[in-house]
Amino acid sequence: MINIVLFGPPGSGKGTQAQNLILRYNLKQISTGDLFRHNIKNGTPLGQLAKSYIDKGELVPDKVTVDMLVDDLVKPTDTNGFIFDGFPRTTAQAAVLDEIVREHLISEITICIALVVDDEILVQRLLERGKTSGRTDDSDESIIRNRISEYYRKTAEVAEHYKQQYKYVEIDGVGEIPEIAEKIFAAIDKVKVK
Ligand code: AMP
Repeated sequence: MINIVLFGPPGSGKGTQAQNLILRYNLKQISTGDLFRHNIKNGTPLGQLAKSYIDKGELVPDKVTVDMLVDDLVKPTDTNGFIFDGFPRTTAQAAVLDEIVREHLISEITICIALVVDDEILVQRLLERGKTSGRTDDSDESIIRNRISEYYRKTAEVAEHYKQQYKYVEIDGVGEIPEIAEKIFAAIDKVKVK
């Protein structure tokens, strides 16, 4: 089993690279952002709650996020493992993820791939995405900047969790998408159990 944490600030290319990883390794992507947006679209109580945070560029509380993630993780799937995209975003979530993967998958996180992109490039990418994504949190520069601040305030420290486990690899997230994908594949192929 391969379980990958795709890590990095908003706009660093996690969702894009997840698509490449799915095809290469036959994995299921779990994106907590996508799960929230699905709930918002369907008008669920969870969606309503999440929207009040997302629209401000703040993180949704851990308990709500973790419960939603577990619901998706336990669904039957015939893939070789999972890509966690946008989760964990706090040190508490990182600790819970280790437990969940151990308990529900009888496995562990294989690697944390961190995509590194300069802040100003992130802002430009997100504003550009906002023109077509229909995402309210992508179309306003002050919300985008708040999301990046939240990343530094609460999420960047998650890197330490995986560094301590010798599972943390940084990849330059600026460049051509296929070239970045190749670098990610090389990092995974180095550590994956054959
Ligand atoms: P994303 O699609 O990953 O950029 O996430 C969009 C928004 O959903 C974030 O700005 C947060 O408000 C919320 N969100 C997504 N994942 C998480 C998470 N793991 N913890 C808390 N909030 C999250």
